[in-house]
Formats: sequence, structure tokens, C-alpha cells
Amino acid sequence: MKSFLSFFLLVFCMSILAAGEKRGAVAFTFDDYHGPRWLKADAIFKKYNAHATFFIVGGLNREKLDTMKKLQAAGHSIGLHSLRHKDACTPKTGKLYENYFEKEVKLQYDICKKENIRTVSFAYPNNRRNEESDKEMFRHFDYLRAGLGKPGKMLFYPLNSLKKKMVLGGKGIGKYYKTDAEEIKCLLDKAAESNSLIVFFSHDIRPGAPGISMPTELLEEFLAHAVKRNMNIIGFNEIEKLINTGKKK
Ligand SMILES: [Zn+2]
Repeated sequence: MKSFLSFFLLVFCMSILAAGEKRGAVAFTFDDYHGPRWLKADAIFKKYNAHATFFIVGGLNREKLDTMKKLQAAGHSIGLHSLRHKDACTPKTGKLYENYFEKEVKLQYDICKKENIRTVSFAYPNNRRNEESDKEMFRHFDYLRAGLGKPGKMLFYPLNSLKKKMVLGGKGIGKYYKTDAEEIKCLLDKAAESNSLIVFFSHDIRPGAPGISMPTELLEEFLAHAVKRNMNIIGFNEIEKLINTGKKK
């Protein structure tokens, strides 16, 4: 009798735990370099216990490195985005540019290593990629951020299908991408319901941001919605943690 009772108690506790368990994940990513305003936006991410990924373009001077370190210390992920924002492959032939990593990325990569900035991910400049470029970049990175490709259909990555060496396609957020806040919230709902990861990309973060950047008020709205849906709000460095969570199920 006693063992029956403890069994039911265990099932009861497990169901309570399951109810509080996180469902699905969203990765907000920001490209190029908007260090001071990204740092300013950290307060918003903190408010929602959320992390993002910042994909850095260009040379890395002391000031930039210190900003990257501050973002990393706040729990965000730092990824690379090339030195000169050059496409990885030619638009015409689709061929990988010769020595792309060595010429366009290696300097950033080596400096980050020396400075203890963990870079497990790379965002393709202009989201231009192909299988050949993926093969080359997977030699140095675990996750490659791209766009949604031609059909433009949102991509959902079930948490139990996540692995190392993945290309993750994301949807752009900003006025230029004609972002509809309700549509984004529906996508968050769908990711939570299907226990999947979804990815978004933008650039700067500031109030009323025009063009390809994230208006602060929209970011806050999306973070609040993801929290309401009990989603993981993660940087690319935390995908590994999600893989392990998925395995347990
Ligand atoms: Zn870019």
C-alpha cells in the first residue's frame, strides 16, 4: 500500500513538473554590428530571462571586443558574420569563393579564440549559402544561420531533431521585411505547440527602428509572448543544451 502511495505521489509530482516544463524555443539573432545599442537592449532581454545571438561583422578592435565580452558575460551568444560582409558563394555559378574562410573569417575566428569569446555559429552575409559553403563552414562552426530561402516558408526545427552541424534558416524582422506582429506571435505559438525551435534575424535594436532593424517595442512584445508560452529564448550557444533536453524525452 505504502509503495502504491509513493508511486502515485511520484506521478503527481512529475505531472506538475511537466506542466511547468518549457515548450519549444526561439532564437532571436542580430547581425552586423550595433554594439552600444545591443548592450542597451540587454536590459530588455534580462527582464524576460532571454538570450540572443549577435553575429559580428568587420575587424575586431579593443572596443568591439570589450562589447562582445560584455554581451557574452550577460549570457548572450556571439557568432561571426565575416570581415567584409562578402557572400560565401557566387550568385551566378553558386560556387564557393576560394579560401572563403581563410580570407573572410579566419582573422575574426582566431582573435575570438584568443580572447575567450566562444563562437560556435556563423551567419552567412546576405544569407547566401549552398551545400559547398556549408561543408566548408561546418569545419569551423556547429550552426550556420541562413534565411528562409526562396519559398520563404517558416522553418520549424523539432527539439528532438536538433543536432550539431545544422543550417538554421530564420525569418527577418523589421519594417523592410514587412513584419506583422500578430503573424510573428502565431509563429511563436506554433513553435511552442510543436516543441520546435524557430529562428529570427534582425540588425540594430532601437525604439521605432526603421528598415532592417528591430523596433524595441516589437522585441519586448515578442519576448513577453514567448515567456507567456513558456518557451526557451536562447542564443545559438545554448542549442547544445536543448539537444540534451530533447534526448531525455
Ligand atoms: Zn549582415
